[in-house]
Amino acid sequence: MQIPGHIDPVTTGTVPLRGGNRVDLVGLTREGIRSALEDAGLDAKAAKLRSKQIWHWIYHRGVTEFDAMTDIAKAMRPWLTERFIVGRPTVVTAQVSTDGTRKWLLAAADGQEYEMVFIPDADRGTLCVSSQVGCTLNCRFCHTGTMRLVRNLSAGEIVGQVLLARDVLGEWPKGTMASTADVDDEDDDAGHYTADGRMLTNIVMMGMGEPLYNFDEVKGALKIVMDGDGLALSKRRITLSTSGVVPMMARAGEEIGVNLAVSLHAVNKEIRDEIVPLNRKYGIEELLAACAAYPGANNARRITFEYVMLKDKNDSDADARELVRLIKQYKLPAKVNLIPFNPWPGAIYECSSPERVRAFSNIIFESGISAPIRTPRGRDIMAACGQLKSAATKPSRAELDRIAEEKQAALG
Ligand code: SAH
Ligand code: SF4
Repeated sequence: MQIPGHIDPVTTGTVPLRGGNRVDLVGLTREGIRSALEDAGLDAKAAKLRSKQIWHWIYHRGVTEFDAMTDIAKAMRPWLTERFIVGRPTVVTAQVSTDGTRKWLLAAADGQEYEMVFIPDADRGTLCVSSQVGCTLNCRFCHTGTMRLVRNLSAGEIVGQVLLARDVLGEWPKGTMASTADVDDEDDDAGHYTADGRMLTNIVMMGMGEPLYNFDEVKGALKIVMDGDGLALSKRRITLSTSGVVPMMARAGEEIGVNLAVSLHAVNKEIRDEIVPLNRKYGIEELLAACAAYPGANNARRITFEYVMLKDKNDSDADARELVRLIKQYKLPAKVNLIPFNPWPGAIYECSSPERVRAFSNIIFESGISAPIRTPRGRDIMAACGQLKSAATKPSRAELDRIAEEKQAALG
């Protein structure tokens, strides 16, 4: 079976409707909400007005009940409730790390599970969002890579993670807003809305899955997240990470326009073929050329190269020097993010020693390129980079090898 998408067909299921026959409005464009209302029987003018109001309530106020949408006529609210819902993913489990990182296992309407992670820092808070249940790819150091791809997440399920995070962090505005839509709001005296002091300030598409293999839904979700009348996150605060799906990179830059992170992880074909097997399809030269052409990348908005530090695999001084050479050869506005390998049960790699990571970082810094070492966060709850995996089963090594082989064959 082919999945909808632009490139590289993989198998997936369909996304079920939440709330029985009722249509979930989360994830629809404004236009989509308008036409859903028209399809349900509203005339064009009413649908236009109501869609604007509903959008504002969903994405600016975080409201999930039509009854709370106080500028919509009282008589109309039950009519909406019968036909539509404003959904949220179901929380299966929620965990908190000793370092404050939080991880949620979420379930979609069809029971499929995926994870979301929130990483608080002194000056910001980053939500790590999943784009797929499982992953088609099989990077050998990644726990998600040991899962088969179950299906793509829909735009609603992707943006739903952000909405849920706002719910749990208690970060929806209360009180009056500048918008005239709120004139008959019942909580007028609750004070004025301010966006300052929010915990959730940044989003990274670095959860489960390869976002560029689910381009349309990821794009739809991020457009909603960036919409000024709503969540209104700046594209500068959103980063999309790809393992190197070269044919989709230019479109990601042109049509989504967020920051790009590229999972490079190795500087020569032999090692990258082994640890990021997508390299056998799109090699390092092609990948770096696509980075050089990435729309919107410049010295103020650099491309991040992610580099997982694997003991005796990709962590020598010569590797660091080659990384610098490549970045310079392609004249890339780049920074390097060194990620100490996060272990998971059954992983065949070890993390480089702290001294090795430091030496690797120094070589890159000395060439004038920034190469900070990422502090692992949430390791105790398996929430760190590459530790996410939703199925509780623990496949044998033979089973893992079989999955890896299948995935490789599917890549062609
Ligand atoms: N699928 C996307 C997003 C992945 S997660 C991608 O591959 O880019 C974000 C980063 O974590 C990627 O660079 C990924 O390669 C890295 N990663 C995966 N497993 C890891 C592990 N066990 N330890 C450290 N980083 C890991
Ligand atoms: Fe998939 Fe990214 Fe993990 Fe590779 S690192 S297996 S692309 S989630």
